[in-house]
Amino acid sequence: MYIKSSLFTAIFLAALLLACTTTGPGGKTSLIFIPTSQEVAIGSGMAKQIAATEKILQDEVWQNYVAEVGRSIVDVCDRKDLEYHFTVIESDQINAFAAPGGYIYFYTGLLRQMENEAEMAAVVAHEISHVVARHGIKRLQTAIGVAVAYDLTLGGEDLEAIETAIGIGMGLVFAGYSRSNEYEADDYGMTYLTRAGYDPRAMESMLGKLAALGESSSNVFEKLSRSHPETQDRIRHIQTRIKKMQPISTDVTVGQERYQKALLRLSTKGDGQ
Ligand SMILES: [Zn+2]
Repeated sequence: MYIKSSLFTAIFLAALLLACTTTGPGGKTSLIFIPTSQEVAIGSGMAKQIAATEKILQDEVWQNYVAEVGRSIVDVCDRKDLEYHFTVIESDQINAFAAPGGYIYFYTGLLRQMENEAEMAAVVAHEISHVVARHGIKRLQTAIGVAVAYDLTLGGEDLEAIETAIGIGMGLVFAGYSRSNEYEADDYGMTYLTRAGYDPRAMESMLGKLAALGESSSNVFEKLSRSHPETQDRIRHIQTRIKKMQPISTDVTVGQERYQKALLRLSTKGDGQ
């Protein structure tokens, strides 16, 4: 499908003007022209491919635990127009990622590196923030080109456009985000982590732990420490924010005991028991 006339171009431009969407705390808006329904259709298609290629952890306790923490962050986030899905993948990769449409994944390799629930919640909050800020769908709408984007903007059931977007989206999942996207996800993540009652210092300790793994670890949390933004810069940014939050309440959730108990279920590598 191609843009056929100036009338279509006019409709497209009108859609763009209507597409200013809230994408962050404090009412921040961005120009998003792919409707949420299409974003969810693309994310759902990507989720099917991920389920077919990755090993989903067969442990309801862990799947429910991550979903429960996920819901507590979703409840305080700035995007409620879609349903969030949280899935744990069994893999030694130290990573997590968010596909468009609210499909969020965590690898057991990353969960094993965390020490308490608040650190896990910090990763969850960072990933949810990528969804709130529409980083995935924004990157996708740039990558798919104007003809496919135009078809998606019109809504409806253009399966060809959705299939194209799914294919390109799968190629972008592990590409990593820009420096400014990562800062934004850390920043919103801190806000949501705090709103949900978790210890905000967990964002710093989580990043610090993963940075300490060094350059040799594969796929560390969206390429953290391997590419820009420099991890130490991100940590300094979080430290500055924590300083401004002092004194931190003693009532904040850390969840050391519960998390350590759950970790015992992952102690045997590979079988998820
Ligand atoms: Zn990120």
